[in-house]
Amino acid sequence: MSVLTTPPAHYIGRFAPSPTGPLHFGSLVCALGSYLDSIAHGGHWLVRMEDLDPPREMPGAAQRILTSLDAHGLHAHGPVEWQSRRHTLYLEALEQLRAKDLVYPCSCTREQVRKAGGHRRESCVGEQGQYALRFACAGATETFTDIWQGEQTQPIAEDPILKRKDGLYAYQLAVVVDDIQQNVSCVVRGADLLDCTGIQRQLFRALDTEPPLFGHLPLVMNEGGQKLSKQNHAAPLDDATPSQNLVQALTFLGFHPPPPLANEAPAQILSWASARWQRHAVDRRNRLLGQ
Ligand SMILES: [Zn+2]
Repeated sequence: MSVLTTPPAHYIGRFAPSPTGPLHFGSLVCALGSYLDSIAHGGHWLVRMEDLDPPREMPGAAQRILTSLDAHGLHAHGPVEWQSRRHTLYLEALEQLRAKDLVYPCSCTREQVRKAGGHRRESCVGEQGQYALRFACAGATETFTDIWQGEQTQPIAEDPILKRKDGLYAYQLAVVVDDIQQNVSCVVRGADLLDCTGIQRQLFRALDTEPPLFGHLPLVMNEGGQKLSKQNHAAPLDDATPSQNLVQALTFLGFHPPPPLANEAPAQILSWASARWQRHAVDRRNRLLGQ
């Protein structure tokens, strides 16, 4: 059976932005894609704020993101979860991994890792003063089928850090622990996260959970050939024109909304789109808007 046609039995999807800046058009495409895939499969759609790294966050961005989602009619089925309030869960997961001898302390400096051409457990300096915790999975190869990116083979070269030397939990750990705890069955997100999926799948299994289905959507690129992102100053989404934004995002995803639809309210547009959402109809190419 194909992942393009077979929905999981109890579908729970999610959109998980980090509050490092306001939503931009690329993030709307991801939010909309994950929302429609959930709704079209009779599922639930959750929103989770990935506010794990306070130094990188922009004050007010989390609230602005939630306001934008609301303005675009993208309402979550359930309360918004905040990673900053879930540290106990991450600690428990680390304890679980430690009991299985799957994490180890690492005090290697960036310079040491760079000189060695990557981190190797054999030459790890271990625990010396402040240390990070690494997940032992290097050498494994993960194969899986992505809804839109097809067959994937990802050899894992290096043990990823799950807790940083500065004490912050790493994205890889938090995202997997949350997806497990929230029973997420299908992860729909941007193709920039395809490469870390193998590590995350390893981590799901290490935490005694079968990984969810993954689907990586095409990226919206800028004129310079980079994906739109907060780092390269993508324009914030204009919450005053939600209907036009939604119609544009649907078009980017490969759908053909009739032009008058842009005059309807977001709820009508979402209802039109969820009735027509088909995984195989999604245009998988990363590209500039309007191409
Ligand atoms: Zn090390």
